[in-house]
Amino acid sequence: MENRPGGGEPPGAAPSGPQGPGPAHHAVRAPWPAPTAYPAPGYGAFRPPPWHMPPPPPPPSAGSGAGVLFGAGVAAAVALSALGASVLIVVNTPREAPPTGGTDVSLHYEDTMAAPPNAVTVDVADHPLYEAPMPEPVDCETPELQPESDESWQDFATSVGGCLEELWAPVLTDLGLAAEAPEFAVTTESPDPADAEGYTLAYYEGDFTRITVVLPNVRELGAQVRPDEREEVWLALMGHEYGHHVQHATGILGISHDLRMSAGSEADELDALRRTELQAECMAGIGLRGITDGGADTLEVVNANFNGGGDLPTHGTAVNRAFWLEQGWSQPTVGSCNTYGAEEGQVL
Ligand SMILES: [Zn+2]
Repeated sequence: MENRPGGGEPPGAAPSGPQGPGPAHHAVRAPWPAPTAYPAPGYGAFRPPPWHMPPPPPPPSAGSGAGVLFGAGVAAAVALSALGASVLIVVNTPREAPPTGGTDVSLHYEDTMAAPPNAVTVDVADHPLYEAPMPEPVDCETPELQPESDESWQDFATSVGGCLEELWAPVLTDLGLAAEAPEFAVTTESPDPADAEGYTLAYYEGDFTRITVVLPNVRELGAQVRPDEREEVWLALMGHEYGHHVQHATGILGISHDLRMSAGSEADELDALRRTELQAECMAGIGLRGITDGGADTLEVVNANFNGGGDLPTHGTAVNRAFWLEQGWSQPTVGSCNTYGAEEGQVL
């Protein structure tokens, strides 16, 4: 079945209200996935820093004698060649003390240092990340959340984020990635436009490696969730957003963005977005299993609150969201989250 956006909703739009209890779990209207949220991916595109480039040669010094020979072309050529020779002699002659005017340090650089490194290709469907075994669970103590307190939310998000960082660190380290740890923030301002039918609970910004929880929206959803189930719901939310961070650190998020920008149709763009979101949902399953006690009811609770409702053109059908969450929860390798290599029916 082709899944097309209904009602003219742009990609990234939140779900509409009548679609049941599946609110905009982690809808990404803004600023994700605005183009400015995506710097060049660290994994796939690397530019040598400026200090790898040799400095320009020093200007010819006055008094070299070049000026007086500029009467004819031949003389000029001789002069330039003499000048070159003199520079060479200067820098090759051992000195007891370096000249105060500076030395041509470019000669200290090897040619290989000035050359750009080999390009690293990121294949979102065949990525070394998928070879990684599921990370071992970590002990995770989270502070009790006081939903009406902004400070409590900040503490909770930071604490859960720390657990997820500890969980994922071995995976990223094994890939040779020195990923910057994300920041955690809360905001009282919803990024959703006034006429949005759903709402954004949290979002990830690659530019700032930051996860932000939208307080008015998590409070609105939290009021509809049983008190004894809320913590698992928020752990899943944080796990999903941290999944976007893993995508960012591995270069997958940047490629995904490029795929969307270069899509030939709205359907293709939504396909790329859903694969990204469903992969993050699968990583939420990895996070849930890794930072909770792994009780089976955790999965049920999260599915009941997030994945039991309507189908979303941006985040997938309810069935597929639940499928991918369980993949991450239950399978032996991160490769179980390879939504980019999945059949179309699994990412509708
Ligand atoms: Zn997401």
